Amino acid sequence: MRISTTVDEVRETRRALPDPLGLVPTMGALHDGHLALVRRARAENAAVAVSIFVNPTQFTSTDDFGNYPRDTERDITVLASEGVDLVVLPTVEQIYPAGHSTIVDVGPIARTFEGAARPGHFTGVATVVTMLLNIVQPQTAYFGQKDAQQLAVVRRLVADLALPVEIVPVPTVRDTDGVALSSRNVLLSPSARSAAAAIPQALADVRAAWDASERDAAQLREALRQRLRAEPQITIDYATLVAPASFIECDGIIHGDALVIVAVIADGIRLIDNLHLVDMIE
Ligand code: AMP
Repeated sequence: MRISTTVDEVRETRRALPDPLGLVPTMGALHDGHLALVRRARAENAAVAVSIFVNPTQFTSTDDFGNYPRDTERDITVLASEGVDLVVLPTVEQIYPAGHSTIVDVGPIARTFEGAARPGHFTGVATVVTMLLNIVQPQTAYFGQKDAQQLAVVRRLVADLALPVEIVPVPTVRDTDGVALSSRNVLLSPSARSAAAAIPQALADVRAAWDASERDAAQLREALRQRLRAEPQITIDYATLVAPASFIECDGIIHGDALVIVAVIADGIRLIDNLHLVDMIE
């Protein structure tokens, strides 16, 4: 496994690797959610590259870039045991050298929900993803469905800029109590971590209503919010249903599918989750 810290080194190492190459972009502090992406990439490609880069431009003043968990040594050991070929481990100066000023703005989808709560977040994501794709030049890139709006932003970006890469979505990996694995979970106190179980429970409630043929967006939203409101340790930022590709909020009777999206604050930590509801009746 090669570890490359400069753009030139990454390009040179990548040229020697076989195609197709799959890229898994991460911010490190790897857990089993990340590893699901790595394993999928390993199974589907001749070579695998994983980037670890805590991207300062996607953090906003309310996020704490400095506090974001980092454990690079352990990450490297884990990636070596997963049979990864290349770890892309750039410094901030390599990605954003003096004079860097071009940014990628994906438009309206980048400004709602996560984009509204964290202004500039998706511009940071879209810019760094574009750069990583240009530097590594993978045929495939793997993204978790856990970050559903990020996935939608990346799909929009790849389609709009005609980037020659296939985006592969990977289902959310969950803890035994249903809470989605996240690098930020380690920042939660034990009681806030227990309270977070209300999120998958609320998603299960809305799933049950959907399965019982409820299609009214307001009713489904209410089914989702009830359990979240009952948990005193969490504050709802948003909990609603949207169209999966556009993130436009559902209204009235839902036809086809919908994405349930949730963001809460527990212990000052922002936790997100989602659930895709699909109409099985053709
Ligand atoms: P991050 O390091 O948080 O930027 O995440 C890197 C990639 O891993 C993103 O595509 C995430 O969506 C994905 N990811 C994070 N947590 C999970 C999870 N619990 N299940 C599946 N994918 C995940």
